[in-house]
Amino acid sequence: MDILTDLNTAFEVQEGQPELAFLPIGATEQHSRHLPLATDTLLGERLSAHILAAVDRTGTALLLRTLPISSSEENTGFVGTVSFTPLTMRGIVRDAWDSLSRSGVRWLVVTAWHGGNFIVKPVVRELNQEMERCGVIYLNPWEHAPEAAYDGFASGFEVHCGDVETSLMLALHPETVRDDRRDNPVAFEAIYQDMFSMKTLSGGEGHAGHPTQATAEKGRALIRAVVEGSARYLERILCMADQHEQY
Ligand SMILES: [Zn+2]
Repeated sequence: MDILTDLNTAFEVQEGQPELAFLPIGATEQHSRHLPLATDTLLGERLSAHILAAVDRTGTALLLRTLPISSSEENTGFVGTVSFTPLTMRGIVRDAWDSLSRSGVRWLVVTAWHGGNFIVKPVVRELNQEMERCGVIYLNPWEHAPEAAYDGFASGFEVHCGDVETSLMLALHPETVRDDRRDNPVAFEAIYQDMFSMKTLSGGEGHAGHPTQATAEKGRALIRAVVEGSARYLERILCMADQHEQY
């Protein structure tokens, strides 16, 4: 797809007639001792354009700037984490869609670079049901890489600041990765975060997993898989939305 951004003027966007808007959601939250608070936002800023550019479809997309704060309840308890409550996120998605749809945009892709925004999924259903057609599309890019893409990492998909996320940052923003990387092989499953904070689950370290095993090369391979998988998924959904006029 062709891409317009907020560096274009309103008149340029009007002339480009984007059929789709893309809202990446980042976070401002603790990422242990070795990654910055903006990690998820930086990933969104770098990778969202790659996904849109890889979507094989005639048409124009308006790539919005990555939202730098979202719902990070599980990472509170550290200085620097800023969290919107889930209902605030509901309001943000609804308001973004209201203004975009009024200006003629047909679809909004809400892209969760930070995994804590669980409420976004039911809000997408709520909006599509309300308007009786597919208008808002949920994309969690990490879900669209094949499972095998995580095979080379220390323990598969390490949720927060482990081998996976540190490798991604070494590939994209190596200057932000601190030398103080400590492995923290605690018993950890992402689902525990519904009941306990990351601070509690990680023994105060802020992460679980093996950041010392991270490499830029592993990060680059995963990025290719995530970008490809997400682009194919969007092509599929947009094709379905062309076919089904109703919800
Ligand atoms: Zn993160």
